[in-house]
Amino acid sequence: MKNEQGIIGLFIDGNYFFTEQTVEHRNVYHQTLLGHLSQADATHLNLAVEAASNAQKQWAMLPAYRRSELLFALAEELQRNTEEAAMLIVAETAKPITLARAEIMRAVTTYRLSAEEATRLQGETLVMDAVRGGEGKSAFTVLEPVGVIAAITPFNFPFNLVAHKIGPALAAGNAVIIKPSSQTPCCALWIAEAAKRVGIQDGVINVIIGSGGIIGDALVTHKGIQMISFTGSFDVGLHIRSIAGLRKTLLELGSNSAVILDQSTDINLIAPKLASGACAFSGQVCISIQRIAVHESQHDQLCSLLKTIFSGWIVGTDPAESNTSMSKMINSSALIKAKNAVQQAKNAGATVICGDDYHEMSMWPTVLTDCPSHLDIVQQEMFAPIVVIQKYRDIQEAIDWVNDSRYGLNTGFYSNNLKHVWHAIRTIKSGALLINEIPTYRADHMPYGGVKDSGTGKEGVAYAVREMCHEKLIVIQP
Ligand code: NAP
Repeated sequence: MKNEQGIIGLFIDGNYFFTEQTVEHRNVYHQTLLGHLSQADATHLNLAVEAASNAQKQWAMLPAYRRSELLFALAEELQRNTEEAAMLIVAETAKPITLARAEIMRAVTTYRLSAEEATRLQGETLVMDAVRGGEGKSAFTVLEPVGVIAAITPFNFPFNLVAHKIGPALAAGNAVIIKPSSQTPCCALWIAEAAKRVGIQDGVINVIIGSGGIIGDALVTHKGIQMISFTGSFDVGLHIRSIAGLRKTLLELGSNSAVILDQSTDINLIAPKLASGACAFSGQVCISIQRIAVHESQHDQLCSLLKTIFSGWIVGTDPAESNTSMSKMINSSALIKAKNAVQQAKNAGATVICGDDYHEMSMWPTVLTDCPSHLDIVQQEMFAPIVVIQKYRDIQEAIDWVNDSRYGLNTGFYSNNLKHVWHAIRTIKSGALLINEIPTYRADHMPYGGVKDSGTGKEGVAYAVREMCHEKLIVIQP
């Protein structure tokens, strides 16, 4: 991936291209130089689209069992190299090594699920004579790949979220052009190289590197792209949707995920889980717990439990050390945004239970209460180790507080009261409701996607495969 001058290349049609214009790429924790990133321009983009377009036609013609075998081989290649891949995540994101290894295991699963789905591209049969005029006709649908997919990914799960694009796309017979986060290009290049090693044909997976703000529009509006699958922030997602025209667009965006704990909840039991759901990987997870609604009778107990748990966390240390709980945040603007939101909350009268401590690029787990609902820390996605605790008197008040959000991705609801559970199922507005589980739970075969500003469309391998196909209807009049 890197030439003798230390330039990290673009991966197009199975070969590296090294550009004259480059940008420094540094290890997030140590700030040591990882290399100089090539920067794609329109010429590279055209090459990548042409390669993908040609390769896709052959890839789609492979028998389903062969596409499946190759995806299984890719899963095995990744599993064999877990440590090397996990260390790339550590270098490019400062994710603690234990979480990085867990991400690789999930990505292996995502490729395996994709391999299975490659053999299940089934349409449906219609009962044509269910309506007048349908007598004597037969009809069924077939799933066809959309063609070339531009897959734009964020920094926080640089292997597994790339797997959620490549796996379903290839299972369905598509080719992809990955535009990874500028923070994590090496993770994407690693998997593209691995795909070549196991025999996936050149051009089916291409990796374009460059700032999204510069190369993004040209990629999204390129005539040779049939679909955009985007995971990232709301603002960028909205911009992509506004210029994508009639192309299929899948948007997996952010949230300010919440969990409600009703009075029957064993707070002692679940407090450690709440802590990790809120602050693991410095809260840089789209379904990180940002808001907790707790009954007023358990509020003080929850605050003191979280304070005790977080005081035992090891923060700001090298992410490669296995006892690191949280290392540095991804960049200074993420830290400044979080710090400003905490300051705004304090100015508005919020109480800091713990945290609000910073050193270099690290922020300590920060728990706040008494936060007025209009604050950024409640309403906007923080993507930082910040959690707001809100006390309530009756369950409807808690549900209203949780629903008072522009986002709706995953919501957690703890209760042993069946009436409360059914009420929550009927009234909470989010893509998924997890009963007696934190919202930070995701298994890779679950349908996954938000409502409101959290996005449109579903990932989760089988669901993404459907999104990445056209369903063509065949009607036969014998
Ligand atoms: P981001 O800033 O939106 O970037 C995401 C990707 O979009 C990057 O590859 C970025 O490239 C690219 N991009 C930026 N501007 C673009 C443009 N004008 N046109 C096309 N592409 C453009 O997000 P992030 O900071 O990497 O990730 C955090 C966000 O992702 C959070 O909001 C989080 O909730 C969300 N997320 C959602 C899910 C989900 O499944 N719902 C999962 C994970 C993360 P550059 O890096 O070059 O700018």
